[in-house]
Amino acid sequence: MRSSDIRRTFLDYFTDRGHTRTPSSPLIPDDPGLLLTIAGMNQFKPYYLGERQPPQPRLTSVQKCVRTSDIDNVGRTTRHATFFEMLGNFSFDDYFKADTIAYAWELFTRHYQLDPDRIWITVFSDDDESVRLWRRIGVPESRIQRLGMRDNYWSMGVPGPSGPSSELCYDRGPKFGPEGGPAVNDERYVELWNLVFMQHLRGEGDGKEDFPILGDLPTRNIDTGLGLDRLAAILQGVDTICETDLLAPTLDVAQELAGRQFPGHDGSPESVSFQVVTEHARSAAFLLADGVLPGNEGRGYVLRRLLRRVVRHARTLGIETPVLAAVTGSVVENLGGTWPELVAGRALIEAVTTHEEESFGGTLRQGGRLLDAAIGRVRGTDTTRLSGETAFELHDTYGFPIDLTIDAARAAGLTVDEERYAVLLDEQRRRARGGGRGRTADQERRLDTYRRLLTRHGRTDFAGYTGTLVET
Ligand code: ATP
Ligand code: MG
Ligand code: MG
Ligand code: MG
Repeated sequence: MRSSDIRRTFLDYFTDRGHTRTPSSPLIPDDPGLLLTIAGMNQFKPYYLGERQPPQPRLTSVQKCVRTSDIDNVGRTTRHATFFEMLGNFSFDDYFKADTIAYAWELFTRHYQLDPDRIWITVFSDDDESVRLWRRIGVPESRIQRLGMRDNYWSMGVPGPSGPSSELCYDRGPKFGPEGGPAVNDERYVELWNLVFMQHLRGEGDGKEDFPILGDLPTRNIDTGLGLDRLAAILQGVDTICETDLLAPTLDVAQELAGRQFPGHDGSPESVSFQVVTEHARSAAFLLADGVLPGNEGRGYVLRRLLRRVVRHARTLGIETPVLAAVTGSVVENLGGTWPELVAGRALIEAVTTHEEESFGGTLRQGGRLLDAAIGRVRGTDTTRLSGETAFELHDTYGFPIDLTIDAARAAGLTVDEERYAVLLDEQRRRARGGGRGRTADQERRLDTYRRLLTRHGRTDFAGYTGTLVET
């Protein structure tokens, strides 16, 4: 099933059941606490909190999401992207657990024709009601697993609506490792669909587990998220999201430029690099189309990191020619029919990626030499750690985002002193602020260039340089 049919099947299923189709919100959320849109429910937060009335009690959408927190997983797992489309159905004070579970099961087994015997269910530890509902639908006890806060309690990572969840996972078979269900092997039993019973208000706290639940929301609601990329991988019979029709044309461009084949998901540096180049190209194109420009803070930095990682991973694949405009251009070609903002942003995407690659290309080689030399020096000693000073110099002088340095160190079997790096970075930021300006002359110059590009392409929604926001 092609990804366009997967989207349509989902939306038709829920509109046939009284849901109103809502367009995706932009990647830049209308929420001061959030850096980027990470889930379908983000734009509906005021409805869950009772601050605003939903237009309808039942909505459905295909939401563009960016999760920077997954940047390190790309290419290391088969299933994590930094950008992905989330299919969702939402109920506000309307249906709750029983209907949500029945809908999900029917859509999966009847419409997508997934093998019911390979579907595994997870529920929140004490949620006996959900276990009963899944049992009634015919799922045997042996394929229902109870998990804790980290996996089966959902929130946006910030204070706001939250709740226990139940997830549908799919067994991809022994090729992906030992049996035992999603609790023990999340690559084999890939998580596809999260059904959140949105009924609590979470407070301030750290991470995914350590926060207080302040009480009940005014209403009981539903929020679900089904990852399009992952479902496409299953339905199209491919191992990785990069081989689905969402990303295959971009992977093809990378293979052509590199003059060699993607080896498949085999854990090799080459395999990881192919997936990083392919996957990040899509995120970058979508961020640019939504008005984010490369910068040194906030969203702009997220974009810059993605672009620089593409360039560096392309170089390790032996691609010495410009890569960014080609791979992001293929994203526009492939997905522009579904997402017209890509087509509207085509010229801007090409101009900014070309410019960014030129400005990074010059320092990449010098920085790379410094990095290789530092790695060589550490190897001659009995430590396995690259110093925070080296990481900082690479960042400060050569524009190497820290995760590039970490990648390179890891490929050489080393770690990076990230704490020391963070201290140095913080000191520098404070110095810059004390000096009255947070930007160097070079940054000012580039900012001007991007402002001009934006004016030329008729875009005014500049969002590259933003303050520090919560990144989840
Ligand atoms: P995982 O545990 O695999 O990291 P998650 O629990 O963080 O996923 P949810 O927050 O529950 O994900 O999001 C709902 C759905 O969105 C997931 O079930 C999955 O299908 C999809 N999804 C989440 N993160 C990603 C990602 N980085 N790339 C692609 N799809 C994703
Ligand atoms: Mg995750
Ligand atoms: Mg999960
Ligand atoms: Mg989940």
